[in-house]
Amino acid sequence: MTVAPIEAVLFDWGGTLTAFHSVDLLDAWRAAAHVLAPDREDDVAAALLDAEREVWARTATTMRSATTGEVLHAASAAVGLPVEAALHERAVAAYLDGWAPTSFARPGAVDVMRSLRQRGLRTGLLSNTHWPRGRHEEWLARDGLLDLLDARIYTSDLEHVKPHPAAFAALLDAVGVAPEHAVFVGDRPHDDIWGAQAVGMRAVWMRTDAVPSYDVEPDAVIDDLGELVAVVDRWTQPG
Ligand SMILES: [Mg+2]
Repeated sequence: MTVAPIEAVLFDWGGTLTAFHSVDLLDAWRAAAHVLAPDREDDVAAALLDAEREVWARTATTMRSATTGEVLHAASAAVGLPVEAALHERAVAAYLDGWAPTSFARPGAVDVMRSLRQRGLRTGLLSNTHWPRGRHEEWLARDGLLDLLDARIYTSDLEHVKPHPAAFAALLDAVGVAPEHAVFVGDRPHDDIWGAQAVGMRAVWMRTDAVPSYDVEPDAVIDDLGELVAVVDRWTQPG
């Protein structure tokens, strides 16, 4: 059997390059609610969470992407708050500040990325996120990962989310690699593993029981990011 040589290793972000965190979502929105309407914090936080849930429910059924700005618009309309761009921007910033402690890269992520690049492989990121690119890139830069990722795609900038083939195509185009020459590494069996395989990529599952399961057979399974380099080496130097 001929195996196509690997030219790129591409990553999911949350739960893959970062560790999984369990977060109280209502609490996370409270910071935004405090900016939008300090005297109605509870109501507004609940409306924001409802709006976010609606967005994710829509995403799950239609694979259409969304932005944090859309969540704020929907919640503001639902509770009769005025929509004011500068205020919304401050609210999103406060909300994302609350998420910052969950945003740190796993230990060893930088070493893995360097090892892959030393092998002449391209690297990339594709995250299902309604958060803006700017904050993601700030966090990646803080952790020394930004310049080690040749392309970084956030679905908040796209029409569709994983597992839609267009989301994977956006990343493959950005790194300039055909799917049969690319490996995707992710923690979600449906979005990441099934989605990547459906477009013709090999898929490595970062094993976890924190996300919904799905009946799919990954090409390899790892429990630690550090194991990835050996998997790629096996595929790069067959026999
Ligand atoms: Mg993930």
